[in-house]
Amino acid sequence: MFEPRDHVAAPAELAGRVIAITGAGSGIGRAVALACARHQATVLLIGRDSAKLEAVHGEMVAAGSPEPSIALLDLEKAVARDYDEIADAVLERYGRLDGLLHNAGLLGSLAPIEHYDVPTWCRVLHVNLTAAFVLTQVLLPALKKSADASVVFTASSVGRRGRAYWGAYAVAKFALEGLSQVLSEELEGISHVRVNTLNPGRARTAMRRQAYPAEDFSQVPLPETLTAAYIALLGPASHGVSGGAFDAQPPARASSAADASSSGSSARNSS
Ligand code: NDP
Repeated sequence: MFEPRDHVAAPAELAGRVIAITGAGSGIGRAVALACARHQATVLLIGRDSAKLEAVHGEMVAAGSPEPSIALLDLEKAVARDYDEIADAVLERYGRLDGLLHNAGLLGSLAPIEHYDVPTWCRVLHVNLTAAFVLTQVLLPALKKSADASVVFTASSVGRRGRAYWGAYAVAKFALEGLSQVLSEELEGISHVRVNTLNPGRARTAMRRQAYPAEDFSQVPLPETLTAAYIALLGPASHGVSGGAFDAQPPARASSAADASSSGSSARNSS
């Protein structure tokens, strides 16, 4: 069975691929972007903070990786024109898109449904779900021009088995699993675009700190240690694998808190 977290990537595994990553300026997105570039992908860094994206861009150039691009996009505020501009720029500059990682996300608040703040609910659903849907939709023409394209939605264990107080965040993650499955079926047989979800498991990032302020952060894995599964799913290793739900960490490692993996990996392998 295909198990992305065990993947050992070849040095130039992503050579020739153009891969777009949201939330690429910090946390897991930054680590995955740098790993993709190290494996020779041309990365489109999407985010809302130009200073953070410029810093990642600079690291890639200094390391001698293929020159990345930057696209500024605030997923909370973006309107149709902003999305269209990115899609047009991708087609104009690269003529296609080989990978799209939806990584950006917002925790919102941890509160019971009975008391969950409605405006926060709307914001979290918009950033974590609707924006990912819209970005996928506008980039589909570019993805369809690739000979081997991969869309990856970032999952969470609270979006595979519901957990009290995780509110809109959990519900949006559940919905991303649904979006991934629906899109995967729609594209099967009519395109070379595969669609999967990946749960990073717990990672030492700002979001984790916000969710678990009292946790011993030194025991939480660094995002840099979790990139193997991302490379496997974004690159040729997962060719033909679609409709799956994967985990970047073994269940035992991920299970001590919010991102305990309760579901095994599963996918339809069409090749
Ligand atoms: P971070 O908070 O470090 O990163 C979140 C990213 O999303 C940042 O790059 C942030 O940009 C971006 N973002 C947030 N809001 C917007 C917005 N309105 N427009 C554009 N970008 C935005 O968290 P993680 O790295 O941990 O999270 C990455 C993904 O992994 C998320 O989808 C999260 O749900 C998921 N995840 C994380 C786990 C963990 O333990 N860390 C566990 C399971 C899932 P900026 O830098 O500008 O703030």
